[in-house]
Amino acid sequence: MREEMNIQWFPGHMTKARRMIEDMVKQVDGVCEIVDARIPASSRNPDLDSLTGGRPRLIIMNRTDQADPNVTAAWETFFRKQHAVTLKVDARSGRGTERFPAAVRELLSHKIEEYRAKGQTGRRLRVMVVGIPNVGKSTFINKIAGHRAAEVSDRPGVTKSKQWVAVDAGIDLLDTPGILWPKFESQTVGENLAFTGAVKDEILDRVTLGANLMLRLRDEYPDRICSRYKFTPSAEADGFELLEQAAAKRGFLLRGGEYDLERMAAVLLDEFRGGKLGRITLESPPEGS
Ligand code: GDP
Repeated sequence: MREEMNIQWFPGHMTKARRMIEDMVKQVDGVCEIVDARIPASSRNPDLDSLTGGRPRLIIMNRTDQADPNVTAAWETFFRKQHAVTLKVDARSGRGTERFPAAVRELLSHKIEEYRAKGQTGRRLRVMVVGIPNVGKSTFINKIAGHRAAEVSDRPGVTKSKQWVAVDAGIDLLDTPGILWPKFESQTVGENLAFTGAVKDEILDRVTLGANLMLRLRDEYPDRICSRYKFTPSAEADGFELLEQAAAKRGFLLRGGEYDLERMAAVLLDEFRGGKLGRITLESPPEGS
């Protein structure tokens, strides 16, 4: 859903999105929050706590194919320590999505008990998906709904309806995701959202964005700069100098002989997002967690 990326989050949009989520939340037992495994903190929205009114929350780390597996494992441990049920998936290939029903049952085990105690054994569980634009909500729902809907298509009542998709015999998923607005709590969060393409580049100066991505790579994944751009980044260089070195290696020159940093920044961001630099995670769980 490309157009979602172009939403400018004006207060009016936020009010509308907030109302929609608050409304949908009333109909579900649990909420599945999709986060980007490359930026598991920056892709969350702190307002979700108040929006979901204490509903149990499943954290789905998506795009694990693009993220650093070691850091993804560290985030999983971190979320588990906070007693959050988590699921690691790659919604595009579907890897991990088969564990979704089990994760929902784990999340809602209290609810299942509660229903059973009330004599409502077998009552269907209802869940919804929420997340910031471009995190993979639609891809995830399509993956989950696609094959499940086909499996149960001859059973009235549990077939794909307008609003609910039967995930399995006991779980229904709302087929419309709740769109959360990105939260720019700090420059780092804003940059992380821009690096990954969750928000449009145009809100920030692209050369500065590229220079700052170079610095992050230099500090966390210097080997990727070496292998992709064929130079060893020095600890003293600033981001613009690193961009310049990459531009020199690529032969990106302007007419006057200056390096074309605009072009190099665009290429860097593109290659990062396209996975050409390998699997990279831009933030780690808090120290000592
Ligand atoms: P939404 O805005 O949250 O509904 O995001 P979409 O489902 O439309 O996904 C945005 C883009 O990310 C699409 O091009 C998807 O193919 C891609 N995408 C979604 N999930 C994954 C994933 O797990 N891995 C990769 N590599 N790409 C994904």
